[in-house]
Order: sequence, then C-alpha cells, then structure tokens
Amino acid sequence: MNCPFCATEIKNSVFSESENFLAIYNVAPILPGHTLVVPKKHITSMLDLPDTGLSEMMLFAKKVTHILLEVFNSDSFNWSVQDNSAAGQTVSHLHLHIVPRFEGDMPNPGDWYPKIDNNYKEMLDSKSRSKLSQNQMEKIVLKLRDFEKNRIPK
Ligand SMILES: [Zn+2]
Repeated sequence: MNCPFCATEIKNSVFSESENFLAIYNVAPILPGHTLVVPKKHITSMLDLPDTGLSEMMLFAKKVTHILLEVFNSDSFNWSVQDNSAAGQTVSHLHLHIVPRFEGDMPNPGDWYPKIDNNYKEMLDSKSRSKLSQNQMEKIVLKLRDFEKNRIPK
C-alpha cells in the first residue's frame, strides 16, 4: 500500500496523538501551521468511523487547533475534509486539514481552498520545491511537541 499517512516516516511529523488519531505537520504547508488530523488505521471515509471514533476525531482536532492557534498566534482557522474521490480526496486515508489563518494572509480568505488540491502533489512529490527541508520540519515539530507536552488543556 502506497499511503503517505501509513508510511513509517510519518512518525517524524507527528506532534500530538490520541488513542486512535495523529496530528501531522504538513510537509508542504499552504500556510504556516497547516496540520492534518488522521486516524492511525487506514480508513477512507469519515462515515466508516464509529460514532465514538468520530467524536474522538473532532475533540482531538479541537485540541490540536488550540495548540496551533497558540503557537502560531492566530485566532482564526479553516477545517476541511474531502471525503471520497468526487469530493477531491486524492489520498485515500481520511484526513482533516487544519489551517490557522491570519489577517491578509491571502488576497481573499477563500483562496486557501484551491491550494489544497495542489498540496497533495507537493506532499507526495519528493522533489517538490515548496516542501519544508528536513531541518525546518524537525524544528517546527519539536516546538509543537514541546508545547503540546507543557500546555494547560483548554
Ligand atoms: Zn493509510
């Protein structure tokens, strides 16, 4: 199976986890803080999650969003799921995008969405130029892990 979220190297990008979910810093963030929440198991659709799994995913994503907003000094964010191919899901492993937003970060607030499409190519293409270097990635993941460990839960 050629799934980037099931690959063992993904561990280097994980900065928080719950029982069944991981928070992964996006190797090709469309904006600073761009993170993916994914189930540890290879599940394609949100609808394949049991109710308890869906609640866990949402509550975990809420916690991750708090971390991102604090670390990246933002009070705004987008969440997005593309569920199945007609909806634009190109990696068949369920993932929720969390993107912290900043005043004036894009000409129009909605401009982030078309970038998600191209983002998959960047995540999957090892030669993509817009990818973070291993050093940049390590720095940010360590910072997020550290913050995650020491924060007071909200
Ligand atoms: Zn997978």
